[in-house]
Amino acid sequence: MSTCCGRPSRPAPGGSAADAVIAAGAFLTAAAALLLLSPWLLTGGRWQVRHPRTALTAWFAVFGGGIAAALASVAAAILAAVSGGTAATAAEAVTVTLVAWVSLGGVGAVLAFISLSAEPLSQSWRASLARYAPAVSRREQHPGYTLVWFDAPELFACAVPGRHPEILVSTALQDALTIRQLQAVIAHEHAHLRLGHGWAVRIAELNALCLPRMLRAGRDMKRSTLLLVELIADDTAAGQVGAVHLANALAALAKTTNDPGLELRAERLTLRRWKPPTRRHLPQLAIRPTDAAVERIGGTY
Ligand SMILES: [Zn+2]
Repeated sequence: MSTCCGRPSRPAPGGSAADAVIAAGAFLTAAAALLLLSPWLLTGGRWQVRHPRTALTAWFAVFGGGIAAALASVAAAILAAVSGGTAATAAEAVTVTLVAWVSLGGVGAVLAFISLSAEPLSQSWRASLARYAPAVSRREQHPGYTLVWFDAPELFACAVPGRHPEILVSTALQDALTIRQLQAVIAHEHAHLRLGHGWAVRIAELNALCLPRMLRAGRDMKRSTLLLVELIADDTAAGQVGAVHLANALAALAKTTNDPGLELRAERLTLRRWKPPTRRHLPQLAIRPTDAAVERIGGTY
């Protein structure tokens, strides 16, 4: 840049280093705002129950934006450190270098925390698998997952994501439901696997662990995410098998387990208007009625 008097040009004092520090601060502020906004977005109001998929997508978009802004802040801080040589004073150079190292240290601490806390999360899934492994009575291979039947007196079904995804179903559940109801429950579990709900739950759990304990946002968000993935899987299964079968299955389970949450989910399904089921992604099952089920409903399905 030349002056009006035509003196030789020289770089603006500390220009690039100072700019990079300002950019790092701006990105950090944006990251904090987005990461704090995302729980509010997901937990404020009641619209999420009507539109669970939109709510979860919106949360992921805002949360992802927050992470991207945090990473951009670190990149800007590193840039500030690299261009520290152009700083006007030694004090400025030391400050920007310090900011860069503190940012990098922060990223390292977060990564270490995530890797340490991710291990117990995957262990909890493995623990539920190990618990029922001795009672496995049958394994059915299906495209994309294995259906595992196990002998247990509890009414139980769950999806276990991973490299070899599995859907666990207890024989007691098979006895308690009709074929269509059972198919609806398995379609619900299949939706969890197909839509990657394991990741959504994991991110919400990590978010709850990372946010300070006194902030309720993290815990609220974890609870909301757990509910939203259930509602999304309900809607998917209802669209495939028919809402009436899933609603009846949930009502039957609610009566046996005294779980009011299941009853509310059944009621929610009956309040909505549904198109005829598509059966497009319906998992094909080799389910046979058990003796108990045939006896209970007189052999009609
Ligand atoms: Zn579920």
